[in-house]
Amino acid sequence: MINIKTKEEIELLKIAGEIVGDTHRYLKGFIKPGITTLELDKLAEEYIIKRGAIPSFKNYNGFPYSICTSVNDEVVHGMPSNRKLVSGDIISIDIGACYKGYHGDSAWTYPVGKISTEKEYLLKHTERSLYEGLAVIKDGVRVGDIGYAIEQYARKHKLGVVKELVGHGVGINLHEEPDIPNYGKQNTGHILKEGMVIAIEPMLNLGSPKVFILDDDWTIVTADTEPSAHFEHTVLIEKDGYLILTKR
Ligand code: MG
Ligand code: MG
Repeated sequence: MINIKTKEEIELLKIAGEIVGDTHRYLKGFIKPGITTLELDKLAEEYIIKRGAIPSFKNYNGFPYSICTSVNDEVVHGMPSNRKLVSGDIISIDIGACYKGYHGDSAWTYPVGKISTEKEYLLKHTERSLYEGLAVIKDGVRVGDIGYAIEQYARKHKLGVVKELVGHGVGINLHEEPDIPNYGKQNTGHILKEGMVIAIEPMLNLGSPKVFILDDDWTIVTADTEPSAHFEHTVLIEKDGYLILTKR
């Protein structure tokens, strides 16, 4: 069952999304060589709470932190730690905030200091693949159309599409139906309607699409140790397009 949100729900989802976008903007200024991912987690948690929201990820299925920090070959669900960022790293920060029971969800990959041209390429095209996926969204779009758009773009740029993790509906739950894979066939899958709220989140690898999970049971890493990027927005489906709720 895919929920169509009421006007009142959409207002709360807009506020939750705005808090997530603002948290990204706030954190961005701190992403520099020398800071630890745990310090970024604390900054994000304090900021989200100051805005009257709750970090969505904290205690989600037992996840102990407020944000996910995935560095270099870590794809998603990286755990904040005493790891210090160094120049040349890339860090994917995934942020969720829950405002009056409604969630916003957005991830972004940032360069730390000066990064390699390969990593620049990965970031540029993963971000663009997100907008390729968003571009097809309007009332009546099918889930397969979104995945198809992302996958075709990724293939054209020779990036590996992670298949084990997917986008999703967003509402009173952080993850709702339907799943939205970053691959697919046109004209297949659920039909999406005006008033639904979904998170689109391509995860692309510079090398092979293969990933595995570390012994901490959270962190997903690339099998070939090549870097990975993750760009995500929560959007409202509109009659003729979409509205980004997690604008930065
Ligand atoms: Mg998500
Ligand atoms: Mg997310």
